[in-house]
Amino acid sequence: MSKWDATLGEELRQLKKEGRYRPLTVWSGGSGTRMELDGRSYIQMSSNNYLGLTDHPALKKAAIDAVDRYGVGSGSVRTITGTLDIHRELELRLAEFKGTEAALVFQSGFTTNQGVLASILGPEDVVISDELNHASIIDGIRLTKAARKIYAHKDMEQLEAVLKESAGFKKRLVVTDGVFSMDGDIAPLPQIVELCEKYDAFVYVDDAHASGVLGKNGKGSTDHFGLHGRVHIQVGTLSKAVGAVGGYVACDQVLKDYLIHKARPFLFSTSQTPAVAATCLAAIEVLKQSGDLIDKLWDNASYFRAKVQELGFDTGASETPIVPVIAGSPADTMTFSDMMREEGIFAQGIVYPTVALDKGRLRFIVTAKHTRGELDETIAALKKCGEKLNLIR
Ligand SMILES: *Cc1c(COP(=O)(O)O)cnc(C)c1O
Repeated sequence: MSKWDATLGEELRQLKKEGRYRPLTVWSGGSGTRMELDGRSYIQMSSNNYLGLTDHPALKKAAIDAVDRYGVGSGSVRTITGTLDIHRELELRLAEFKGTEAALVFQSGFTTNQGVLASILGPEDVVISDELNHASIIDGIRLTKAARKIYAHKDMEQLEAVLKESAGFKKRLVVTDGVFSMDGDIAPLPQIVELCEKYDAFVYVDDAHASGVLGKNGKGSTDHFGLHGRVHIQVGTLSKAVGAVGGYVACDQVLKDYLIHKARPFLFSTSQTPAVAATCLAAIEVLKQSGDLIDKLWDNASYFRAKVQELGFDTGASETPIVPVIAGSPADTMTFSDMMREEGIFAQGIVYPTVALDKGRLRFIVTAKHTRGELDETIAALKKCGEKLNLIR
């Protein structure tokens, strides 16, 4: 028996017993609305490719041209030889797009949250976080010596109470997802901003699922609510709707300069490859003319959500293209997921402990590229499986 077997192996066996062991699903083909798995084509309802940019011709050309011009790697961290002209250009264009003084790009949204939160908070500060914030925010907070307070999901009374009792701290920072990834609901940013102004706190919004989705041309939740200049730190991802990989913080110049000296993933991990930076630059140009594409995304999402609700399913708090369909226990969720798969539809099952024990769900993500035919096929399969499983009220 290997030395891992007695410890890690035992934990894995326990996961299997609880039905929580997840082998990786290995797809062939790009991340379009249909993807191939073991030789069969499935309608893909779980990809974050909201606008279909992963195989946009302009983005692909930008990536290929960048490889020809710069090669495949940047060769270093940003602070040594890893800042190429396209990295600088990307940050200038991102700041312009977001309407902020500056932007700083990281390797991913995950490392952006880790790098920013860990850098700006010290032992005399307090960070106040929505209970449903993303794992990367939680990990970023774990890396600080700041005091931590959690408020119930979107509970503004509790947030106010916590802000009131936090007067003694040097800096107060309120952190929220812009769009919550498991429920597809939107943070009450206007109320958060008002409370933060009243109690002299900073606002930090993570727009991973709002980038390219919410606001004019996908500028995010700050733009969606008309809060320009009142949100201090906007984190975005280049990995979801933008179609490539990477993350960024849009902020003022002082914070950017500070992070360049302090944010550890920025300082100690190699910069984005030239092809990725060039792809993201091309994506911003596409986003600037994306009005119709984003309208289509929201049309598709409203259509799908309304049809699913009409059938009698519980879609929780969904108000974005993320549409959870609640199944219940982990076992019911997995059965539901397997049955949908037999119908040729892939929607990721999400169970405890990611969500409450009785709120297991299939999470559907509608994109601008889904055809009405594909959505209707998905809805028909939902009806068939929902009836069999008694999930329809
Ligand atoms: C996906 C996600 C991230 C991580 O972004 P990556 O670019 O994939 O690392 C961060 N925050 C939230 C809320 C997310 O949903």
